[in-house]
Amino acid sequence: MSNLIIKQIPCLSDNYGYLVHDPQSGATITIDTPDANAILEALKEENWQLSAIWNTHHHWDHAGGNAAIKEATGCLIFAPKGEADMIKGADHYIGEGDSVSLGAHAVQIIETPGHTRGHICYVFNEERVAFVGDTLFSLGCGRLFEGSPEQMWTSLSKLMALPDETRIYCAHEYTKDNARFANTIEPENTDLQDRIAQIDNLRGKGAPTIPVPLGVEKATNPFLRAQSPAIRTRLKMENASDSAVFARIRQMKDDF
Ligand code: ZN
Ligand code: FE
Repeated sequence: MSNLIIKQIPCLSDNYGYLVHDPQSGATITIDTPDANAILEALKEENWQLSAIWNTHHHWDHAGGNAAIKEATGCLIFAPKGEADMIKGADHYIGEGDSVSLGAHAVQIIETPGHTRGHICYVFNEERVAFVGDTLFSLGCGRLFEGSPEQMWTSLSKLMALPDETRIYCAHEYTKDNARFANTIEPENTDLQDRIAQIDNLRGKGAPTIPVPLGVEKATNPFLRAQSPAIRTRLKMENASDSAVFARIRQMKDDF
């Protein structure tokens, strides 16, 4: 993980906060603000000074700690420009094509509407690290609160285009529940069975299942597997579009 230190902070019941620290410049950012106290405590523990908050979307468990953390640290706030009306008081509103940086590390912004209409992800291309908020979960994806299935499929497709080694940092530990559903969609998938065994082992020890390499998700996550012949046969959607297959799987998960 050339030169970046990522501190994963369990917050609330199942959120993860992330501090990303660049030892070279001393700069530190937090991806979202699920719990101001937990994040401030972690900064103190590491003796890091916060440069900025980078928000993925407006939900309270992602931006709810913005004001308290800015007040305590004087940091800057970067928020998705598609949600400027929902995340008040940011210093910079950013979208696809904009770049942010952590020290000398350039970070790509990918717009991934679907869960919310302005959701963005932060990708450290060189380091092969992506912070995906509530767009992609291990064996799952975000609920479609503000977007259509077609939009979300397009968003997930952008993430799928990243290199397989990319480590995916999701904002929630939902993996074990997601696995129960995934197993009903593609039980014959041996990669999925291997991942479920790994998940049971990790959760049994109280360890996180996140981060996870993108390649593992592409091989196991039903929401990224609309092309799978086994899934299409099971759903009787052999000739449907990928986004239609995705939409059906999302609907089935909502009803699960
Ligand atoms: Zn959310
Ligand atoms: Fe969330």
